[in-house]
Amino acid sequence: MTHPGTACLIDRYRHRLPVTTATPVIALGEGSTPLVQAPRLGAELGVDLWLKLEGANPTGSFKDRGMTMAISKAAEDRAEAVICASTGNTSASAAAYAAHAGLRCVVVIPGGKIALGKLAQAQIMGAVVCAIDGSFDDALRIVRELAETHPITLVNNLNPYRLEGQKTAAFEIVEELGVPDWVALPVGNGGNITAFWRGFNEAVTAGDASDRPRLLGCQADGSAAMVRGEDVLEPETVATAIRIGRPVRRVEAAAAARESEGGFVAVSDDEILRWYERIARLEGVFCEPSSATSVAGVARARAAGTIVEGERVVCVLTGHGLKDPGSASALGAEVITLPATRHAIEQIAFG
Ligand SMILES: *Cc1c(COP(=O)(O)O)cnc(C)c1O
Repeated sequence: MTHPGTACLIDRYRHRLPVTTATPVIALGEGSTPLVQAPRLGAELGVDLWLKLEGANPTGSFKDRGMTMAISKAAEDRAEAVICASTGNTSASAAAYAAHAGLRCVVVIPGGKIALGKLAQAQIMGAVVCAIDGSFDDALRIVRELAETHPITLVNNLNPYRLEGQKTAAFEIVEELGVPDWVALPVGNGGNITAFWRGFNEAVTAGDASDRPRLLGCQADGSAAMVRGEDVLEPETVATAIRIGRPVRRVEAAAAARESEGGFVAVSDDEILRWYERIARLEGVFCEPSSATSVAGVARARAAGTIVEGERVVCVLTGHGLKDPGSASALGAEVITLPATRHAIEQIAFG
């Protein structure tokens, strides 16, 4: 089931991942995503800005890095089914890799709080999709209980192989760019920031902290559990992928921010949407609103003086904009309706 022409991340980083020749590689061509310099957006923020386009993964989010590992290990363990709770992207990714491996997949999502594109992906790939009248945190509690009492593998980020796969994004950044001053990323459950920190530590073998970037964990005001240092009982934000009140990886995420001499920052929904639009307008990069939280967080950290002018910053754009076309249509330029004549177009386009 390997793909000879495609550098899937398990093959690219086999020596740094917990796989053996007995592990069947369930791959769809994930990893090796573009790292794009963003001079116009960077000038606006006063930094040397780079964007890591994780939306270029097979199902459109970084979740594929972890899922190729989790599903490959599930297949190695002869699992017949996998289950996850999800704010959307985990379910799309689990459904895809489970389909590729021929495994049954059950996803549990908070009803009405999932971007349309993510739901459509899980549906078309044949997952059993259960929408509950509750939050992501409720969904996670239920699937954990089910995985304890039934022969089904949990592929949420509690699954240790997910973080192992996700750490490879840090390897790619160091290989292409060296060590930036900062890496900013949106934080929900705190799995990805934990994985990045592990990845940077493994990539940079020499001892002192200046060999590694500082990590900026960016949250939405309405679900800023890490910033507040306590659970948020009713999380609410436009950034649905990080609408999480009880971060599963709270302890590890806090350690990543502390040890890297970085930190956490919270931004409003208005700031998230403003930068979501600026990223697209200034750089031609379309990410989902949750991903734009990283750029909004950098803007905040610049205003506070935490990030200094001219520093090199990588923002991790975690998911593709097409996941959530509704948000883009609502914010973008209006569509101009005209009669089918050259004159009408001429007036608008050149007038
Ligand atoms: C899952 C997800 C996140 C949050 O990652 P955590 O590991 O939960 O902190 C951020 N952005 C997008 C698009 C996601 O799908």
